This record gives sequence, C-alpha cells and structure tokens, in this order.
Amino acid sequence: MFEKILIANRGEIALRIQRACREMGIRTVVVHSEADTEAKYVKLADESVCIGPPPAASSYLNIPAIISAAEVTDAEAIHPGYGFLAENADFAEKVERSGFVFIGPRPENIRLMGDKVSAKQAMAKAGVPTVPGSDGALPEDGKEVVRIARKVGYPVIIKAAGGGGGRGMRVVHTEAALLNAVNMTRAEAQAAFANPVIYLEKYLERPRHIEIQVLADAHKNAIHLGERDCSLQRRHQKVMEEAPAPELPSKLRDRVGERCVDACRKIGYRGAGTFEFLFEDGEFYFIEMNTRIQVEHPVTEMISGVDLVQEQIRVAAGEKLRFRQKDIVLRGHAIECRINAEDPYRFTPSPGKITSYHPPGGPGIRVDSHVYQGYSVPPYYDSMVGKLIAYGANREQAIARMRIALSEMVVEGIQTNIALHRELLSDTRVLRGAVSIHYLEQKLAQQQTKKK
Ligand code: ADP
Repeated sequence: MFEKILIANRGEIALRIQRACREMGIRTVVVHSEADTEAKYVKLADESVCIGPPPAASSYLNIPAIISAAEVTDAEAIHPGYGFLAENADFAEKVERSGFVFIGPRPENIRLMGDKVSAKQAMAKAGVPTVPGSDGALPEDGKEVVRIARKVGYPVIIKAAGGGGGRGMRVVHTEAALLNAVNMTRAEAQAAFANPVIYLEKYLERPRHIEIQVLADAHKNAIHLGERDCSLQRRHQKVMEEAPAPELPSKLRDRVGERCVDACRKIGYRGAGTFEFLFEDGEFYFIEMNTRIQVEHPVTEMISGVDLVQEQIRVAAGEKLRFRQKDIVLRGHAIECRINAEDPYRFTPSPGKITSYHPPGGPGIRVDSHVYQGYSVPPYYDSMVGKLIAYGANREQAIARMRIALSEMVVEGIQTNIALHRELLSDTRVLRGAVSIHYLEQKLAQQQTKKK
C-alpha cells in the first residue's frame, strides 16, 4: 500500500480523500491555491504545498506545479477527486510518466469516455443500450443533418462531444430551428471545449436520470454497486440524489448493472466509475460515463457499506477487488442534498465569510463538508460548500431524518440553498418519488409565474 498520497483537489472532496487515507494509515499531501491557504482541511493534512494564485488555471489546473509538488514531497500516488483534472487524460498520462500512480482509470479509458461520441460508440459495441441518434459525429452537410434529425424524430438534442458539466447542449423542436442550433452548438463547442465535434440524440421528454456505480481492478474483476437516482436537476446540474432509485425493479437494476460490468471488462477499465443513463418507460439509455469518483458517491456508500474512495486507492495500488458481486448487499435508503453557497431562488453565487455554522447530527446523518464558522467561501470556485446525507431503513425514514437535519442546519453570513431543499422535501411529487429530470425546472418556472 502507498505510504503517501497527494490530493490534487480542494474543498469537501479533498477532506473526504484525506479522511480515507488517514483511516488506511496513509500520509497525505494537500496542494492548494493562495485562496485556500488558511482552510482547516489544508492544515489538517500531513503536508501542504501552495501551487499558485487563486484562479484554477494557475493552481488546481496547473499540471507542472502539481507534479513538482508530488516530487518534492515524495508522494507515491495522486488522487484527482472530481472536477479540475480528474478526467484529463493528458494529466493522468503525465502523472504516470513522471513515475507516480494516478488514482483512476488508465489514460486511454479516460480519453475514450471523455469524448462522448466515442464513448457512446464503444458502449453500444459492448452491448449497453444508448439513446437513439446520429451514428457518431454530425456531418458538415446541412442536408445530411436534416435527414438524420428526421429519422431520429423531433424533439432532438444537439450535444458537444467534448461537453461536460451540463454545458454544450441545445434542444431543437422543429426542423426550421435545426441548422441554426447546430451551427451555434458547434461554435460554442469549439470555444468552450476546443473541440467542434457535435452529435445529435433523441430528446427524451420525461426521463429519469439513473446511474450505475462500478468498481474494477487491474485484474479484470468488476462489480456494480447498484444505482443512484439523480433526476432532481437544474440546468442539467444535480441538486439532490438518492439510492436506490424509487420504483426501480431489482431485476432491471441487475440487468443493466451486469451490462456495465461487462463493458468494464471489455475495455479493461480500472477504478471507480459511473455509467449515466436516462430511464424512460422501463428502458435504460446510456448518455455518458464518468471515469472518477462522483459528488453523489456517499449515497451508495451508505446503502452498500463500501468506502468507494478507499477502494479506489486499493485498486490503484494493484490490489484485487475485495468483493464479488454476491458480496454487495444494498440495505436501506440514502438521500444527499448538495449545499451550495447561492441565492436559493435566483441561484447567483454567494461567496463570503460564514459567521455562524451549526451542522446537524443524529442517527443516520453524515455531513461531508470542509467549512466551519469563520471560514470564507472563496469566489473563485464551484459554489458547493458541502453535502448533507441522510440514511434510513427505508425511503420514508431517510426523508424524515433529512428534514430534521435541514431544520437543524444553520449557515449564516452567506446565502445557501437549504431553503430550496426544505421545500423539495415537502413537495408531494418529490415525496412520491420517481420524478423526471424536468420536474424541478418546471416547479421553479411555475413559482416564477405565481410571483408575477
Ligand atoms: P454532462 O456531461 O454535461 O453532464 P450529460 O450527457 O451527462 O452531460 O447530460 C446531462 C443532463 O442533460 C442529463 O442528466 C439530462 O438531464 C440532460 N440530457 C442529456 N441528454 C438528454 C437527452 N437525450 N434527452 C433529454 N435530456 C438529456
């Protein structure tokens, strides 16, 4: 096992990884920008290295600085967390070429899945069902594009092959609007992702977002740990997640889970990963694979009892998976609320100093957060300041505990979306479960019209 790991990330996930390492007796190095020097989690690490000024491009995305930090501290492996460089194949490659272990999949797998067109093609080939659409990239020829869209049937969604974080997508309802949308998405894709390749998919009108968590080792062993339902989204960004997915027959879960595991073996996947699907009328449609630990991983940990970050570290060190599929028993229900520093109704970021902080507690409550009273949320990064996770023997109990936790939680000095979460957990449709990915935006739009 490694003696020392460098954590190339910040905030709650840097603390989460640090805790996993400490439990395993591994020493930690945290790299940080000048904006995070005073953060308590940075001081908690065995060592810390400042890698640059606040903007991420000069620090958390600064590959030479991160690799130098690993060299001067004699770290053996680098954990990228999520976001920043976690799905950057060039980074993974440079880490390995410099003689360190990248805690994640092999660079070629990151590259394959990082391009959504090649990912979809590879998954279709491996027997995973995908959303109907263009077979690969959209051609330049407008007539061809019109023909493809007609065949798929409106509405369609134009997506950037290099897109991510809910950006680079455009829905088209009519043929008249098609070519203009195609040109705009292509231009945006070039500007935002330096990759003009776009593709087209059937736009599903009321799907749920259901994703499968997998774990694989370097010895061709792979398992899945069931699914998460992440349908409560705003602007294609997840707001609340739960596991298991309400009303999903276990036969269906097992069937799609096996397909994912099979695909992992076929592409020689290593590490933790997530297959994202849209689910409509009892059918799964693959949309993309995330080749890293995800924000919402704790709900799976709560119902499976498996520490996903520790397993990532173990398989990166070359160990064989400690579980077979039959060892994975999912018990109870877990929900996660992403706590963001933002206006709960206008969603504008709200950085600044936290003047008062009281995290909730009690049975089944887990708080993954790096913040504390007196902490200043910097304006430079993602607005998520923590995650509140509630576990219960069943969905009703998990919801009841989450409601209590949300009522206890106090964060003052900045605005947060706690009020939105409280509201969602008293919404009859959310309480019934199995809402579509459009539900939250429709609800918010209705509230807007009411106010007017
Ligand atoms: P990203 O990498 O930016 O997260 P995804 O391909 O995972 O992009 O899509 C993000 C979200 O966009 C999905 O969870 C879903 O809400 C919506 N979406 C993507 N593809 C479709 C589709 N074909 N039909 C309807 N909604 C879609």
